[in-house]
Amino acid sequence: MKEFRGIPASPGIAIGRAFLYNDDDLTIPEYPIHHHEVSLEMSRYRTAVGRAVVELEQIKFRTGPTGDPDGFLDTHLMMLQDPEIEAKVDVKIAKVLKNVEWVLQEVVDELISKLSTVQDAYLKERTIDIRDVSRRILSHLLQGGGRGTLADLKEEVIVVTPSLLPSDAVIMNKKMVLGLAMDQGAKTTHTAILARSFEIPTVMGTGRVTREVRLGDLLVVDGNEGVVLLNPAPAVLEAYRSKQIRYREQESRLRALNSLAAETLDGRRIGLNANIEIPEEVGSVLAHGAEGIGLYRSEFLFIEHGVGVSEEVQYEAYRSVLEGMGGRSVTIRTLDLGGDKLVPSLFTVREANPLLGWRAIRFCLTHKDIFHTQLRALLRASVHGSLKIMFPMISGVAELEETLACLETAKQELETEGIAFAPKIPVGTMIEVPSAALVSDHLARMVDFFSIGTNDLTQYTLAVDRGNERISDLYETFHPGVLRLIQLVIKNAHDAGIPVAMCGEMAGDPRAAIVLLGLGLDEFSMNAVGLPKVKQIIRNLSVEEARSITASVLTLKRSREIETALEAHTQGRFSQSESHV
Ligand code: PEP
Ligand code: MG
Repeated sequence: MKEFRGIPASPGIAIGRAFLYNDDDLTIPEYPIHHHEVSLEMSRYRTAVGRAVVELEQIKFRTGPTGDPDGFLDTHLMMLQDPEIEAKVDVKIAKVLKNVEWVLQEVVDELISKLSTVQDAYLKERTIDIRDVSRRILSHLLQGGGRGTLADLKEEVIVVTPSLLPSDAVIMNKKMVLGLAMDQGAKTTHTAILARSFEIPTVMGTGRVTREVRLGDLLVVDGNEGVVLLNPAPAVLEAYRSKQIRYREQESRLRALNSLAAETLDGRRIGLNANIEIPEEVGSVLAHGAEGIGLYRSEFLFIEHGVGVSEEVQYEAYRSVLEGMGGRSVTIRTLDLGGDKLVPSLFTVREANPLLGWRAIRFCLTHKDIFHTQLRALLRASVHGSLKIMFPMISGVAELEETLACLETAKQELETEGIAFAPKIPVGTMIEVPSAALVSDHLARMVDFFSIGTNDLTQYTLAVDRGNERISDLYETFHPGVLRLIQLVIKNAHDAGIPVAMCGEMAGDPRAAIVLLGLGLDEFSMNAVGLPKVKQIIRNLSVEEARSITASVLTLKRSREIETALEAHTQGRFSQSESHV
């Protein structure tokens, strides 16, 4: 038995067999061939291409016409069969007398470096497609098998991987993923957030789990403690099975809270909402007793369908969420691509600091066509429920003005076309950049609500990359500097008469509930699974008590001291309330 310690990224305990997933592990062999073997290598190439075509046709069949609005599957099918690439490979094999895998890689590298120098943005974007297509052929050449994705999983497994892109996480066959164990990653990465939304126990940042685990090994993933066990001894396995049962029982006990109001002991009602990434989560949101959706990360629609996702496809997705929530409020955040959420066809240039780069509203304001389509889809969907629109990564007044002007343009266009939208759609901005927090007195006069995004606010305030496991200890949710900014934002918003929500992961941390209540936060939004625990705290506390605990906590200078103080208060409230449940 071997134990790996990492970051507990999504709670729960998973027991199952390992499935190793690494999208980057193609090692290209290089060896000489004889003249008479050239035609043999070319026939290997054609067979691999043929298999790749069949594979893509199958994917196309499975996804159906709406699954590929961008038409990228057709583009890839065309590229696969491009006679020019085949001719180039043929000529080069005969010239250098090397194996076809190596030659193909060379041909593709040359093509990509040529395309990277052209000015035409469309051609530049094709480099990603070429790389993708060549990897598909290479995987057939090397393994004789297809380039499987996590969407193809047919058995229940624990996925073991160096790292996982949010785009891979969102398409994986969730029913078959019992747990996730990763070398890299940290708690507030989008993959971790997705894992929690999908209720998949996950441990990240283990550093080396992929180096020691083999396909089919028995694993325990303890997402509560951040532990992965490899081939556990029978007695340990038994202990974990009991732990798994106890955890599930506790979860279902907590669900008894679903029908109860989130109300403090002195009668203050607090809004408790859920965050979602894909429309299919609406069922879980309702099952966990959320009053509404406080954050729908719309970018996952673009990651799944491609950045050209049509107005119609977007409208249907937004409409399905609004209707699914049956009149409860739904806050849809406009596109927050960039950072770790990339759509390959657009993000061809690797930025040195993507988290400080072309992200979210910055992306939208330089791609106004894409933004406009989204705003039209949102406005049209607004007649199907109670929609709020929210903008990500706003850093100051001028940016918010430009953004609001885009919304106005979309409204005017729909009016001219005689297309209906709700007359009063509340519009809000996220506060996740320190400069926005500092000028929140001005911003508060321009919108109907704020939502604090602590995942980014913490990373930017403390200058700690939220996805870097090496410095995850420095990512301090309860840093006094972060708490002061939250305090300032709430005060400025209330002075201007607008409510403040929080949709960062801090909102789902039961320890934070006391201090957020004490600071006057109006709404909490979190992963649906986190709702009952936060509700438990709220129901066992008066606002006055929360204020006095908060006042004492704000005098502390170190986040560790603040955490310890809050833990003590939280523990007490849990044991008190368990008898209520
Ligand atoms: C945040 O930054 O807190 C937030 C909710 O946005 P995201 O996690 O999607 O960056
Ligand atoms: Mg954010």
